[in-house]
Amino acid sequence: MFLILSSYILFFIIGLVLGSFLNALEWRLYNKRSLMERSECPHCHKQIKWYDNVPLVSYILLRGKCRECKNKISLQYPIVEFVMALLFVFVFFYYSSFATFSLFSIIRDCLVLFVLTFIFVYDTKHLEVSDAVTLGASLLFFIVSLFFGANWFDMTLGALIGAGFFLLQFVISKGKWVGGGDIRIGLLMGILLGWKLTILALWIAYVVGGIFSIILVLMKKKGMKTEVAFGTYLTVATFIAMFWGTQILNWYFRLIF
Ligand SMILES: [Zn+2]
Repeated sequence: MFLILSSYILFFIIGLVLGSFLNALEWRLYNKRSLMERSECPHCHKQIKWYDNVPLVSYILLRGKCRECKNKISLQYPIVEFVMALLFVFVFFYYSSFATFSLFSIIRDCLVLFVLTFIFVYDTKHLEVSDAVTLGASLLFFIVSLFFGANWFDMTLGALIGAGFFLLQFVISKGKWVGGGDIRIGLLMGILLGWKLTILALWIAYVVGGIFSIILVLMKKKGMKTEVAFGTYLTVATFIAMFWGTQILNWYFRLIF
């Protein structure tokens, strides 16, 4: 009992720390700054002291304001940290329900969720996808999964379907319907999910996107910020397919046969 509880706390803390790293990475990548630099306040450019840089805790203690200039700290920071922590706890919870599980699967899935959350945040905020992240992650997860016995054909076919689906739309619409970033997210989805779950995830992305658009229209917020990057829905759909995809497919096929 104590072991399980301390594992949850450990995953929560690692999630917080990686969420904080994700925020730093997002800012540096967008502003083309080095990862080695110390964090600074985007308003007054003063270096942030280590004790003001503790994930979640500092935001609460500082009441969301910079210690030096009192400007607001973006809500993105605590939200991403907290969500990342919850996702890591979720992964541990998910695997602990199995009779046997490997630590490798847990680490891999935590890494995948880190990458998906990064794409989600970056695409939502800047309406663009960092190719270095999607292509780098595709290569990394392809090799790592191969090493741990994944089926190369399944991953390759998934990648072809995922990337091909968007490439086709890109060519037909001359780049109007989808962006080049979506093609590369499609590639990553295929490698992470395999071909069956990739098709499911694409379908889920359109359903989630459709539902969200209706909600935006009903809330009459559509005029405010019409553009929600499709990559945002793709990451959410990949997450759903990763953990519940097989169940959804089984349920679906039982329904029609
Ligand atoms: Zn400041």
